[in-house]
Amino acid sequence: CPLNGVPEVHGRVRVAVRLRPRNAEDLASDADYADCIELQPELKRLRLRKNNWSSESFKFDDVFTESASQKRVYEVVARPVVESVLNGYNGTVMAYGQTGTGKTYTVGRLGKEDPSERGIMVRSLEDILASTSELDSASVSYLQLYMESIQDLLVPEKNNIPIVEDPRTGEVSLPGVEKVKIRDLDHFLEVIQIGEANRHTTFTKLNTESSRSHAILMVYIQKAAKLKDEDAYAPFESSTSEPRINGRDVPLVTKSKLLIVDLAGSERIGKSGSEGHSLEEAKSINLSLTSLGKCINALAENSPHVPTRDSKLTRLLRDSFGGSARTSLVVTIGPSSRHHSETSSTIMFGQRAM
Ligand code: ADP
Ligand code: MG
Repeated sequence: CPLNGVPEVHGRVRVAVRLRPRNAEDLASDADYADCIELQPELKRLRLRKNNWSSESFKFDDVFTESASQKRVYEVVARPVVESVLNGYNGTVMAYGQTGTGKTYTVGRLGKEDPSERGIMVRSLEDILASTSELDSASVSYLQLYMESIQDLLVPEKNNIPIVEDPRTGEVSLPGVEKVKIRDLDHFLEVIQIGEANRHTTFTKLNTESSRSHAILMVYIQKAAKLKDEDAYAPFESSTSEPRINGRDVPLVTKSKLLIVDLAGSERIGKSGSEGHSLEEAKSINLSLTSLGKCINALAENSPHVPTRDSKLTRLLRDSFGGSARTSLVVTIGPSSRHHSETSSTIMFGQRAM
């Protein structure tokens, strides 16, 4: 729990569930509106119907009904992470769920026509840009991870990008990846649209769907700080204590990183082939989501060993979750009983973090 003035530092991943509003397909197939989900937002609980007689109840950090606004989801799920990143810590926000349940709507929606529809990426940048001065900077990279290979969505010719980890600091970097210094929100929207267009083109060429890749926005923040280096980086430094000003008054810099991840669809892909997945595609999605689940579980159990080495996804996240980094996960679900088993496994994934 938070101490006075000290950022809440614990490894556990915060998990929220978001229910997508019923769509035309749900209405057509659920003639009796037999939803399999009942939300109890005030209790932060969700009931999943097993059959006509019984249901199971699950507790989460937050539960959003189908009428929750994008603004509210951002404020609850992502803003604490963004604030922590602005204070010099790394952080991650991820969306997990079956294809069609609202992951991209939640994190990636640009809302060009209607700003109230803006998702977590745009709102995060808005907050970050509002609190960085001329001496500071915010730069972004936009990548996708598909079949255990990292591609730069801003310069799609750059493929198979290696993940390099500094053995001393544990800092993860991606040599050669494009980093664009963001001037203002319109500039960010332009950059992200270039990435989206490139993502679309690569998947059309591959004759598969982009929902089978993870999209990762990395935001690098540099803030000028007049504190001593060790103060600027100390994770447990209380902000209420007197800051020790550097005698020479040389501006120092704090660097931090925010990762916003639109994960690949979590639908059961064991049945490869039958659903148009290649076996390799299915294996790589299973590998990354399973290893992410193991890491989240290890963090929840306060295990000294978080197994981040097993997949590219978790290696990429290594310095941005656990430890002093804040992590939020939104799991997205649909209301229809048609998808009962997918919804159930999505909920179980989220429960592993609790
Ligand atoms: P995913 O990325 O998980 O495959 P999408 O974000 O593409 O799913 O959502 C599928 C469809 O449902 C889209 O048309 C999207 O606009 C709509 N949708 C998802 N969540 C919401 C929501 N909370 N409110 C309104 N529409 C939504
Ligand atoms: Mg999507």
